[in-house]
Amino acid sequence: MHILVTNDDGVTAPGLLALALALRQIPGADISVLAPHKNWSATGHSKTMHRPLRVWKVRLEDGSQALASDGSPSDCVALALLGLLEKPVDLVVSGINPHPNLGHDVTYSGTVTAAMEAVIFGVPAIAVSLGGGYAPQEILDYRAAAEIARRVALWVGKRGLPREILLNVNVPHVPMEALKGVEITRLGRRVYRDQLVRREDPWGRTYYWLGGEAPTGVPEDGTDIGALARGVVSVTPLQMDMTAHDAFAGLKGLGAEIMGG
Ligand code: MN
Repeated sequence: MHILVTNDDGVTAPGLLALALALRQIPGADISVLAPHKNWSATGHSKTMHRPLRVWKVRLEDGSQALASDGSPSDCVALALLGLLEKPVDLVVSGINPHPNLGHDVTYSGTVTAAMEAVIFGVPAIAVSLGGGYAPQEILDYRAAAEIARRVALWVGKRGLPREILLNVNVPHVPMEALKGVEITRLGRRVYRDQLVRREDPWGRTYYWLGGEAPTGVPEDGTDIGALARGVVSVTPLQMDMTAHDAFAGLKGLGAEIMGG
């Protein structure tokens, strides 16, 4: 099994190394790393079309070889799957993101959208994030999340995933033995607390931050947010088909009405 490892935090991020090290323990697995050279967190699903992309060799902190690119996370996946890696890729694993990716976060997340890019190419994909629960300056421990990622990758390697489906995995920031299980979840409801922060630069010009406190969420049963609140790993299957089937009935008659029928 040839696994492509990528992330949105940059090729030097500790979560990427933890993930690559864990996946290398899968018997017979061949791991390639191609990741952005800088932090692309919260840049969503993107494609670089107006400038060329560069790719170069780097060494990860353990001395192993990886590839870095000046493209986005989804560019990295596209580069790899369009032939930059000669060997076909069987699975893409993205992460480990240091912050949770829950509810609407998945549309902002470079971690998740890298996985989305893979399923567009018909390659199964897993996005892995730490589920929060740590202090702002704490040095993070990726071991449990990496081990969960390894086990989920093994499962997907054996069973496969339906086409167009990716798995969004969030793992509580606790030691492996403290995890309270794994739940298949739906996306929960995030509560964003962003505010428009206006400041002045040293030359008197106004600038803005889209900022605020970290989002919270509604810990409903059956959701990713609910699972994490109970110390449970959330595994949310996501589909690229975003069609709102439930909305069809309410839109009946729209065509006739707007066209004056
Ligand atoms: Mn990130």
